Amino acid sequence: TKRIDPIPVAMYGGRQAVSMLPGGGIGPELMSYVRDVFKYAGAPVDFETVDIDPNSESNDDLDYAITSIKRNGVAIKGNIETKSKSAETLSRNVAIRNELDLYVNVLHCKSYPGLPARQKNIDLMIIRQNTEGEYAMLEHECIDGVIESMKVVTASNSERVARFAFEFAKRNGRKKITTIHKANIMKLSDGLFLETSKRIAKEYPEIEHNEMIIDNCCMQLVSNPHQFDVMLMTNLYGSIVSNVCCGLIGGAGLLSGRNYGDHYAIFEPATRNTGKAIAGKNVANPIAMLNAGIDMLHHLGHVQHADLITKAMVKTICEDKIHTPDLGGTAKSTDVIQNIIDYILTVDVRPW
Ligand code: ADP
Ligand code: MG
Repeated sequence: TKRIDPIPVAMYGGRQAVSMLPGGGIGPELMSYVRDVFKYAGAPVDFETVDIDPNSESNDDLDYAITSIKRNGVAIKGNIETKSKSAETLSRNVAIRNELDLYVNVLHCKSYPGLPARQKNIDLMIIRQNTEGEYAMLEHECIDGVIESMKVVTASNSERVARFAFEFAKRNGRKKITTIHKANIMKLSDGLFLETSKRIAKEYPEIEHNEMIIDNCCMQLVSNPHQFDVMLMTNLYGSIVSNVCCGLIGGAGLLSGRNYGDHYAIFEPATRNTGKAIAGKNVANPIAMLNAGIDMLHHLGHVQHADLITKAMVKTICEDKIHTPDLGGTAKSTDVIQNIIDYILTVDVRPW
């Protein structure tokens, strides 16, 4: 079976270099918090910061970012803005995922006990195709006033994302996978995605498999989300459903998302927001980006550092209840981070 197999990367003095793409809006401030927390937790990671000019029409910055990630194997990323409205200037975010062939996005949507939320005790996974579908970016005006936009679904990408989902479920003790689709209307494209997942499901008889139409899925998520375990879907449905799930457990400021291919991985906040309106005000919730950092530490095998930061973070938001305004609190972003660092300093009994 296939596994995520990072290409061996250079490590200097046992420290791992990772690419850091702050992006726009609140990205840079959130990255500075990740750096601070990593420093106090003693995480053996060095950041190579890569900025991409949102006003640029050229792809030089983008090419440099991709080279950096290929060199380091791993990146932490904010949302990059693309100012140009021209169809020729591709979204940098999409271009990076495509170029590195990060064909799957994984979101673990798990409630934090004691946080204000629409729904409690949620623990579900979203496995999303991350490089094609409605994000093919093949749009054109065929005649005046008529736009065509292509949705591309391939057998090979449908198969590898389905296989990833079942393998993931098996290894993580998950019991059920639900394929989310609209194959009743998009019979060929979503039909292929659905049929492929059904075929792969036969290889995993120990995991229950069912299907649900995307519109019903949205209703079910809001009214009865506990029926879901692992959800498998195409790119655009994944984007929307991810945001619904984040909303259910407390908003855009909490959860992280992981982008994987066979060779590279990128970690980022789950809802991929720029957060422009709240940038520079010291009010953005730093937890989503910190969770991306924790995911990255797990990926690099630095489990003890990841656990130390997780403990400090959970203590800060669930017990001490230091909450930014998105969670109904009055704390500043820096109050949350200071509390996390203070806890790391008091409990730090690192044997390593
Ligand atoms: P987009 O980048 O898609 O335009 P926005 O930046 O408008 O999305 O973000 C959507 C909403 O989520 C906004 O209300 C924004 O303030 C909020 N948001 C996003 N990230 C955070 C965060 N880290 N902390 C608090 N609120 C956030
Ligand atoms: Mg916006």
